[in-house]
Amino acid sequence: MLSCHSGVLTHNVTGAPTIAGLLRERLIYGLASLMSGPSINSPVPLMSAPITQDVLTIPRKLPETGRTNIVGLTRGQLREALIAAGTAEKQAKMRVGQIWQWIYHWGLRDFAQMTNLAKDYRALLAEHFEISLPEIVSRQVSADGTRKYLLRIAGGHEVEAVYIPEEGRGTLCVSSQVGCTLTCSFCHTGTQKLVRNLTPGEIVGQVMVARDDLGEWPVPGAPRDETRLISNVVLMGMGEPLYNFDNVRDAMKVVMDNEGLSLSRRRITLSTSGVVPEIARTAEEIGCLLAVSFHATTDEVRNTLVPINRRWNIQALLDALREYPRLSNSERITFEYVMLDGVNDSDEDARRLVRLIRGIPAKINLIPFNEWPGAPYKRSGWDRIQAFADIVHKAGYASPIRTPRGEDIMAACGQLKSATERGRKNRAQIAAEAAG
Ligand code: SF4
Repeated sequence: MLSCHSGVLTHNVTGAPTIAGLLRERLIYGLASLMSGPSINSPVPLMSAPITQDVLTIPRKLPETGRTNIVGLTRGQLREALIAAGTAEKQAKMRVGQIWQWIYHWGLRDFAQMTNLAKDYRALLAEHFEISLPEIVSRQVSADGTRKYLLRIAGGHEVEAVYIPEEGRGTLCVSSQVGCTLTCSFCHTGTQKLVRNLTPGEIVGQVMVARDDLGEWPVPGAPRDETRLISNVVLMGMGEPLYNFDNVRDAMKVVMDNEGLSLSRRRITLSTSGVVPEIARTAEEIGCLLAVSFHATTDEVRNTLVPINRRWNIQALLDALREYPRLSNSERITFEYVMLDGVNDSDEDARRLVRLIRGIPAKINLIPFNEWPGAPYKRSGWDRIQAFADIVHKAGYASPIRTPRGEDIMAACGQLKSATERGRKNRAQIAAEAAG
């Protein structure tokens, strides 16, 4: 949803990190007028019922090999899987710890290199399991250092992840679904139908692939570098994470585990378009920070921009946010607000916004609209955005205006869309044009 819900792809940058890539070749492709988006005047279809992950998630056992992918299993699931494969029950917890460290702390992909395990046991692991990540199809690097990865997952589907380097930190925006059921009219991803939910392994895998590309795994014996290239993860890529709740939760448990990838819950932000019934669960079962794709101050406008509003309107959403269990001044909710010329950017909108959110510890990210081919909106003028920000700021809320990031590679907020549906012929043509 960042594609959608965030301003994260937008901060200032002072330098790109060192590249130690696995990727040898870059396929630079553009998106060029391949799609047409919904018109602001066209009727927005009513929401369909929330999807269930049972229907849409592929099984953990990989059909090609019959082996189970370890990536994305929680500790408990891994323990059970090891026992089922023949590990003695009383050793299982210790084995989980060892394997966990190799995979998530050291970034190992080969059981044969897990030297604190007996050779026979390594062979047993290789027979039953694999350590499998999404495959990088292409990586584009923006002039501002932002990187967009096109990743292929099981079934040949493709999703995108975006890395945004900043001074002293780096944010990885990950996807939770292929496509999206919601049809937010300002969002490029929303023009791509939902294909399926991502598995926990495919969500964690995006973090691991980016670490590979950035060369961020620790080197045995080398002094520990406390500066993290991926210091933050935002669930704001393709898809609505709260429509894939269980898989997102399990993936974040792996990402937060402090013997592995070890990102604290306060370094993870989940962005929702407003799936009200799942909001409290997010605090209780994941505990991460929350961002909301708000974007409008009346139901009439929000019904068009964020159609899920027809199911849970502004009032219902704000009620759920007021009760967000972790709500405090140190863990404010981020309201994302995309600035659309003449649609939601008036002084009256700004005043209404601060009235609506009164009492909620909040920060408002103002996101200049990032245009995409066929987009039915225009970005608000800078003076208008500034005037809007001033009103919000004077009311006591932080209201940063996000500098668009990665626009030249269509990696900015609201621009993500997997290449799957664009068709290989078109992509090849575009790649050839880019290379020429
Ligand atoms: S269409 Fe989907 S991906 Fe885009 S903003 Fe809406 S919920 Fe997020």
